[in-house]
Amino acid sequence: MSIALTTTDVPPTVVRTHCPYCAFQCGTTLTVVHDSGLSPTIAGDDAFPVNNGRLCVKGWTASELLCHPDRLTTPLVRGPDDRLHPATWKAALDRIADAFRRARREYGADAIGLFGSGALTNEKAYLLGKFARVAVGTPHVDYNGRYCMSSAAAAGNKAFGIDRGLPFPVQDIPLAQVILIIGSNPADTLPPIAQWFEQQKARGGRLIVADPRRTPTAQSADLFLQLTPGSDLALANGLLFIVIEEQLLNLPFIRSRTNGFDAARRVALTYHPGRVEQLTGISEATLRKTARWLATADTAMILTGRGPEQQSKGVDTVLAFINFILAIGQIGRPGSGYGCLTGQGNGQGGREHGQKADQLPGYRLIEVDAHREHTARVWGVDPASLPRKGRSAYELLDSLGQPGGIRSLLVMGSNVAVASPHAGNILQRLQALDFLAVCDAFLNETAALADVVLPVTQWAEEDGTLTNFEGRVIRRRQVQAPPDGVRSDWEILCALAERLGYGDQFAFASAEDIFAELRVATAGGIADYAGISYDRIDAEQGVFWPCPTAEHPGTPRLFEQQFYHADEKARFHAVEHRPAGEEPDAEYPIYFTTGRYAEHYNSGVQTRKVGRLRQAKPAPRLQLHPELADHIGLIEPGYVQVASRRGVVMFEAEVTSTIRPDTVFAPFHYGGTAAANVLTQATLDPTSRMPEFKMAAVRVTAIPPTQESR
Ligand code: SF4
Repeated sequence: MSIALTTTDVPPTVVRTHCPYCAFQCGTTLTVVHDSGLSPTIAGDDAFPVNNGRLCVKGWTASELLCHPDRLTTPLVRGPDDRLHPATWKAALDRIADAFRRARREYGADAIGLFGSGALTNEKAYLLGKFARVAVGTPHVDYNGRYCMSSAAAAGNKAFGIDRGLPFPVQDIPLAQVILIIGSNPADTLPPIAQWFEQQKARGGRLIVADPRRTPTAQSADLFLQLTPGSDLALANGLLFIVIEEQLLNLPFIRSRTNGFDAARRVALTYHPGRVEQLTGISEATLRKTARWLATADTAMILTGRGPEQQSKGVDTVLAFINFILAIGQIGRPGSGYGCLTGQGNGQGGREHGQKADQLPGYRLIEVDAHREHTARVWGVDPASLPRKGRSAYELLDSLGQPGGIRSLLVMGSNVAVASPHAGNILQRLQALDFLAVCDAFLNETAALADVVLPVTQWAEEDGTLTNFEGRVIRRRQVQAPPDGVRSDWEILCALAERLGYGDQFAFASAEDIFAELRVATAGGIADYAGISYDRIDAEQGVFWPCPTAEHPGTPRLFEQQFYHADEKARFHAVEHRPAGEEPDAEYPIYFTTGRYAEHYNSGVQTRKVGRLRQAKPAPRLQLHPELADHIGLIEPGYVQVASRRGVVMFEAEVTSTIRPDTVFAPFHYGGTAAANVLTQATLDPTSRMPEFKMAAVRVTAIPPTQESR
């Protein structure tokens, strides 16, 4: 690593922290050359045992954002000319507090909404939930993690009584003799995780991948199941049928550690391989090979991603795979288990501490009286004053400006105009608001619509904690001071609470100060952080929750002794395959599905600003099979128009035989006329309220070359 010459005698400072992007939360070192005016130099942290020094291209380039010329450094307030103008912090914060007071006076506190993010630190997520319930008094606080992890989270709670993405450390992956990955492409989305799969393969392990696309992950698999979009649940039930029929069940495990097998068994026995072959497109021979490999291995693991989860039956789909892993007894031992590959940087911690409409800190539930009393005691308020459960993310946004809906909204760290399904509808709803405030480091597509925009700190300018996809609580450390005029989201919430008359409950001096209260608020909850301190995180390379006391070692591996229901057993669930909210038909005959590029992250607000990433993937391209390209008369290179019942998007075509002929794929990182979410649909899972991002019906037509340039 080369270090620029410094003009001072002060030696460069090296700070250990973590990448700002995904849930792998790679350890990084940032080297600051004082008075150089340069961004810190970033490198992988060899000592952090999750990534062992490896980073992906997003991580390597992350520091470019810190001094980016588009960075917001002053509050913006919309003027009478309908344009955003620089303003003082006092004027901007007063405007938000006035708007909230007016909404409360005219419509009641329920007319105010708060929208958070899986990118917020634990401290910010905790404070946003408290701010909603205490300072504003609204039930309507939710976050974009609802779009990411909520189905796997709900399934984990139902089956195990606890929701932690991976219930084991990442070092368990090489110990699995067989791994089945469903609907996840970690080779692109979490590249440094490849080292653990490489080790698994080097030990003689086998990898099975199920996906409608032959992704880079699928290309490294020993067995590839190119299933029909939306048929994952049928696949899981079919695997259970086979192990029942072939007597590969682990009956001692089922009897001693689970409940409810008989009902799940009855349903599974209607999923004969012939039926499952029709539903999934996977041959009976491949189904049987998959089931046998998993059931006869000494250790086996199932990992899901957004493919099976972002469906209107996402919870039941995950439950079906959990049924299978329970039935073969491959759980609760090193190298065995079910895990979810979380997406967002703090997707795990962000859903544990109360920014979700139905939750209080520590994974307590807002509708449970004992949980309300505990939290109210910590917050110094009357339990009766706490609102009840509010609207989920999409429902909250869909209510904007509607009768009885949200009139004033504060968005923190989320670009909802691009990231939401049926994005055209959400754009209209945002425009129907009386008042919109956005906190972000950049003027993203949502902030551009706001009445007030507040510039906030970035990752290397702040302290705090995040919880990675293993449930390991880690430290984000301040490497450099933020630019003048920029504040942290938590400072903004404290300043607004003071203006709304709740300064005493928000008298925090630092992120660590907030974490101290979070520890008390989570004590005795499922996600118990009471024994975790900043010092312990530093000393132990992170601490796994639950960790109830300072003496407790933390819990890297769950389920070895117990599950987390009152009887300490796991639960089977009888779950049925059902069609998606929208299936292909004569008018819209093709499946449309979405996902990520290796170079971009979420709605691309950050990564689209990084030169190397933007140059590598400047625009979305639609993947389609050569048969479909022929059928629509596409002449390469060329453009296609994709239409769903909700909108139309034009993409450059990428013809590839790695995708099913009946399916097309586009990445969702881009806004405006390139927004894939213009096409997606918002049928919600009845339990998790997850929108069905992964399934829409579309019509694809080739654009004649003469029209492309218009
Ligand atoms: Fe690691 Fe994810 Fe950052 Fe890539 S984006 S460096 S995988 S944390």
